[in-house]
Amino acid sequence: MNGLVADMLFETHLDLILRNEEDRPTPCEGQTHAEGKNGHTPEQHAEFWMILPCCGFDMLICRSRVENLRTRYDFFSCETCHRVMPTSTITFIELPTREA
Ligand SMILES: [Zn+2]
Ligand SMILES: [Zn+2]
Repeated sequence: MNGLVADMLFETHLDLILRNEEDRPTPCEGQTHAEGKNGHTPEQHAEFWMILPCCGFDMLICRSRVENLRTRYDFFSCETCHRVMPTSTITFIELPTREA
């Protein structure tokens, strides 16, 4: 994915988040979020947008899951294409907060 496509995707995704959510926090999209597995914290909402370098799979995840990935995993397996990649190649973009 080149930078321009990433920028466009980011704007589209961000626009959806900002339009659809109004005052509600954006939910974490991790499959095991509600159970608190894999470092997820059920009370948290999504604070990061994770983009995989393989097939472009992306998802919004909570902060504790990001920290768990960054500190405890050297490799990550994509849920969609099942390729395994170094965690350092994953892009994490912090979502803007809407508190102000
Ligand atoms: Zn989560
Ligand atoms: Zn993939």
